Amino acid sequence: MFLRKPSAVLRKYVEGATHAGSPLCWTCSSCDLECPVNRATGRLRPQKILRLANLGLLEELIQLPEIWYCQLCRRCSQICPNGVQPDKVIGFAREEALRLGVVVPGKIQQYYALFAAFQRVRWQAAAICQHADLEPVSDRQWHRWLENPVIESRPPIHSSDLFKGNAAFKTTVDKTGATICFTCGECSSGCPISGDRDVFDPRVIVRTAMLGLTGELLRSPSLWLCLDCRRCTEGCSQTVKGHQLISELQQLAIEGRFVDAGIRWRLAKAYKIIYPRLLDAVDDLLGLQHGQAVRPRALQADKRLAAEFLQHGCAHAVADAL
Ligand code: SF4
Ligand code: SF4
Ligand code: SF4
Repeated sequence: MFLRKPSAVLRKYVEGATHAGSPLCWTCSSCDLECPVNRATGRLRPQKILRLANLGLLEELIQLPEIWYCQLCRRCSQICPNGVQPDKVIGFAREEALRLGVVVPGKIQQYYALFAAFQRVRWQAAAICQHADLEPVSDRQWHRWLENPVIESRPPIHSSDLFKGNAAFKTTVDKTGATICFTCGECSSGCPISGDRDVFDPRVIVRTAMLGLTGELLRSPSLWLCLDCRRCTEGCSQTVKGHQLISELQQLAIEGRFVDAGIRWRLAKAYKIIYPRLLDAVDDLLGLQHGQAVRPRALQADKRLAAEFLQHGCAHAVADAL
């Protein structure tokens, strides 16, 4: 069910709700080129999402399977020369899709469980890419990685292992503020891929760096899962720069030959194997790729509410009426 009629009211409604700067988009497609999911699959174009928002095609927007392919890494927003924030439009479109019944709440819980389990797959891929290429993944292997907890074989930690690290490591730890972390966990709460500490948890990485457990850190596949979204840094009340710490530790891991120098290139190739599988799994779960009817009346009601919202300049007009 498509309206196929641009709506200035809904366009303003989307921008009023997101403050994403959508009208500033000049369709340069820098975001498409930067998006890691798009680079791996060719199936997620933030620029297309912005165009729908700018045309006020809300019904089309909330039915797009692509809004559920996004991993919320914010690379699109970081690269945009005009400061447009496509990830905010995607977040809004998801909320609207849920509110208008395009996707039912039970499916959303399964979706987030799938996304969390996919981090195990990324971990396994990173573990292989530390020293070799990832070969095509069989169905059996995919499900085994997805469904089983990550178990990393590590030597036991002794007190003599503490507070190690060369000058470069200590400089990285100092300048990123890792030593003033008081392990409150704000970084972990804000991180879109944190949840299972054996897979990835920025607080664990900061704490391990603080303790000078260099081998433990620089050998860990977890280091390569960070999306560089910077939420950990923005959320830290102690001003620890978590994203910068992880990025510099990755470089130290390469320079110290804990991992192969081609790891980033290998990971990019590996993502072309595992991300299409994730998107297929999302399609199977949500069933949006063939189109699914929303309640047009609800959307028409929203159009009236959007007009009221704009007239009074007050979000409560919409919230109260829902
Ligand atoms: S990078 Fe910015 S201006 Fe360019 S297409 Fe994407 S959102 Fe639009
Ligand atoms: S937030 Fe990341 S995954 Fe989502 S559209 Fe932007 S670049 Fe792509
Ligand atoms: S930048 Fe921080 S919040 Fe974002 S994925 Fe990396 S650790 Fe998590």
